[in-house]
Amino acid sequence: MTRVGLYPGSFDPIHNGHTDIIGRAVKLVDKLVLGVAIDTGKSMMFDLDERVAIVEEAVAPFRATTEILVQPYAGLTTLFARQIGAGIMVRGLRAVSDFEFEFSITAMNQQLDRNIETVFLMADPRHLAIASKLVKEIAMLGGDVTNFVSPSVKARLMAKAASC
Ligand code: ADP
Repeated sequence: MTRVGLYPGSFDPIHNGHTDIIGRAVKLVDKLVLGVAIDTGKSMMFDLDERVAIVEEAVAPFRATTEILVQPYAGLTTLFARQIGAGIMVRGLRAVSDFEFEFSITAMNQQLDRNIETVFLMADPRHLAIASKLVKEIAMLGGDVTNFVSPSVKARLMAKAASC
């Protein structure tokens, strides 16, 4: 049986904390789908095509060992998981604040679909403080994001900052 995992997120933009979770999730599943949320309810810095493109770049090193798909999705994450045959949902946990949010979402998801198990991977201590929101703020204020994102994402963030 093929174990399919879904790692959903906004990835606006993808950063080293996300990439670390991907690198660990590929050890747990046969196929990993990166679900890039289309309607996030938040205002995005990067449009969907850009978010998909940078996620594609980030997963490239892991394709050698595991089948990886990057797929935009809209609507309920559990429905998307069912559509793609994912039995495992991967989420990253940074802090107690993440836990409270993830706990309530997972409790609801369990009622929506009992066949999907959510697996939480604790953030690597080196990446505990990294959040897309903070990375964007730092870049817009002229700070150095080298330690938080890939060189390609850094270049894209700097271009956004320069165009504002
Ligand atoms: P969302 O918009 O669903 O919060 P994000 O793109 O911000 O999505 O994050 C996707 C997933 O990655 C979430 O499970 C989030 O907790 C996790 N995550 C975010 N930042 C980190 C980090 N620094 N280390 C580990 N996991 C993280």
